[in-house]
Amino acid sequence: MNCLDLRRAAMLDPRRLDTEALAHVERCDACRDFLAQALELEAQIEHALRTPVPHGLEARVVRNALESPRFTRRHALAAGLALATAAGVALLWKRNDPLALAGIDFVVFEEAQAIADAKPADVKVLARVVREMGVSLPAQLGEIRYVGTCPFDGLTAHHVLVKTPLGKVTLLLIPSRPLASRAVASAHGFEAAVVPAAVGSVAIIASTPRSIARAETLLKSG
Ligand SMILES: [Zn+2]
Repeated sequence: MNCLDLRRAAMLDPRRLDTEALAHVERCDACRDFLAQALELEAQIEHALRTPVPHGLEARVVRNALESPRFTRRHALAAGLALATAAGVALLWKRNDPLALAGIDFVVFEEAQAIADAKPADVKVLARVVREMGVSLPAQLGEIRYVGTCPFDGLTAHHVLVKTPLGKVTLLLIPSRPLASRAVASAHGFEAAVVPAAVGSVAIIASTPRSIARAETLLKSG
């Protein structure tokens, strides 16, 4: 396990690291510091989940953004069948779009550092951005593990890390980047799609086309 692997694992679930990750933390000072920060963020997220929010649309968005997934096995199977079709379509994806490719490069080379450098998460800002962009972050998307802003492709992106039933998904919400049509890329063992939103665009980066298709469908469900 290298430092990047450790940081990913720590962001997904800092309280349940495997023995390999724990061994790495034992011998790496930088990752020990990173894990301490991740645990602190985990505590902040828990606190945010306990904080009551006012009624209304914004409240619902915040709650949806933070709620843990309640996925039953039956739902997961039904969703899986629907997504198998989507994954088949996804296999037709070919050309690497530069922006989608930049999303993959971000996840592979910059994400861990972006998380380490970011200011504390502000879920209210995320809720506003999500609403303004006309996308949704429904609870069944998965458990939101990280929220922050970072530079991406010369613009500011709202960086969201989600632990989904199909593995980790990185979302980069870019309100100031309009997009004419959906584009995709595949590199370094990752898949990415950039999709137009009502305002701006969203880059979705995950390890499989199926995971991308699932996230994309749910983002548009609002
Ligand atoms: Zn390390």
